[in-house]
Amino acid sequence: MKVVFCASEVYPYAKTGGLADVCGALPLALEKLGIEAAIFLPRYQGVDIKKFGLKEVEQHLWKANLGKQIDVYFVERKEFFDRKGIYGDGSGDFPDNLERFQSFSWGVLEALKQLKIQPDVIHCHDWHTALIPVYLKESFKNDPFYRSLKSILTIHNLAFQGIFPKQKARHLHLDHDLKIPAPFDFHSQINLLKAGILYADEVTTVSPQYAKEIQVSEDGCGLEHILQQRHDQLVGILNGLDYDVWDPKKDRFLPTPYDKDNVREGKRDNKIALQKALKLPLDQDIPLFGFVGRLTHQKGIDLILKMIEQIEELNIQVVIQGEAGDGLYAKKLRQLASKKVGLSFEFNERLAHEVYAGSDFLMMPSSFEPCGLSQMIAMRYGTLPVAYATGGLIDSIRSWDHDAQQANGLLFKHYTPESFVKAMHEAIKVFANQSLYQRFVRNAMESDFSWRQSAQEYKKLYQCLLLD
Ligand code: ADP
Repeated sequence: MKVVFCASEVYPYAKTGGLADVCGALPLALEKLGIEAAIFLPRYQGVDIKKFGLKEVEQHLWKANLGKQIDVYFVERKEFFDRKGIYGDGSGDFPDNLERFQSFSWGVLEALKQLKIQPDVIHCHDWHTALIPVYLKESFKNDPFYRSLKSILTIHNLAFQGIFPKQKARHLHLDHDLKIPAPFDFHSQINLLKAGILYADEVTTVSPQYAKEIQVSEDGCGLEHILQQRHDQLVGILNGLDYDVWDPKKDRFLPTPYDKDNVREGKRDNKIALQKALKLPLDQDIPLFGFVGRLTHQKGIDLILKMIEQIEELNIQVVIQGEAGDGLYAKKLRQLASKKVGLSFEFNERLAHEVYAGSDFLMMPSSFEPCGLSQMIAMRYGTLPVAYATGGLIDSIRSWDHDAQQANGLLFKHYTPESFVKAMHEAIKVFANQSLYQRFVRNAMESDFSWRQSAQEYKKLYQCLLLD
């Protein structure tokens, strides 16, 4: 069986978040199950020819290799992708994002024919590639080359739908010229994800809990009815981690690599190194709460800000690592900076690894979380997540107020600053009881967040699709 992945981000070539991790790791996991995989992404300016060993295989098509056998193709459209940034720059999203990802989606389908790659399944990810299932059933439907090709669309975050003004309808390159085609119509605007959901042969999302949540109005972001309509073709499969990238024992970024047999000493050394790096007072006994993620409302920065306002009452240190984005949260955080708070506003892979390893707890008060990889990475590094009970956080964290034997973190149930601070107090109490804390650390490190099981589920899904 052959599967082609299409995405706007793939680790290690282009990454802003978990989408890249998944699209870089799942093909490798599928390969181990005997599935032939290839990947397509845009040729961004940041994809370095030398660093990644790119070769031009056709005009405007470049290729590299991931792992032993996976071909990664880069679609070159200089006018759209040869610029700084993936989706936008400091001043916001690029105004031509519809045109950019339309040209990529169309380019992928053309490239398949040009390269004579005839997969069984084309696996699309998020709104950037949601036009592919549409084109297969509209623009390319009479071409026998594509006739047996099935499409899957995975929703990594329903909050991002690819919504554009109706004046852009002609850039969809469908035969409707100036009108919005009905499947794209979303309150008189163009919605790419909506059309993708309606056209894909199968729709998946990144955790079973999120698959349930997005079918009700509160979390459906206006697409709940469409998702209910496709209920029989909608499944939630929990993401995994690439255990070669995220392994505290072999981690080339860590000052002191460690595993579960020397986790106490290993984490202590990494904590001191992290305190040094972020100019915090050196103290191995103070509980250190880390955060790695986008500085947005979704990730719970408002709750973190409220907690930091009261930090004098808490005997803790806090480390926040997140790209500044529009700068608003960064500004607020800077105003609250103190000896107890270390801040880094850059996308920095090395530092992210150091925060996961050097923290005792990871704060993840996301208001919603489709899957979340940060909590899984943290647990792999023996760092206990303190998280809001939502989406994939429910599917991956066993809370110690429910199961003191198997617990690997703490979930709080009310989305308020008070509940979050209360959860932080509980975490501090657990940290003071080192034998209990170390038991939870061990549980976290022994939890299985590899792709093993989830890749099997995707394989089954592909097989079912081919029987249709
Ligand atoms: P998202 O909603 O952003 O996809 P996830 O938890 O699924 O959130 O994945 C986030 C990924 O991005 C993780 O691999 C995390 O370590 C990484 N990440 C987020 N912010 C940064 C940053 N500022 N520097 C380095 N890595 C980051």
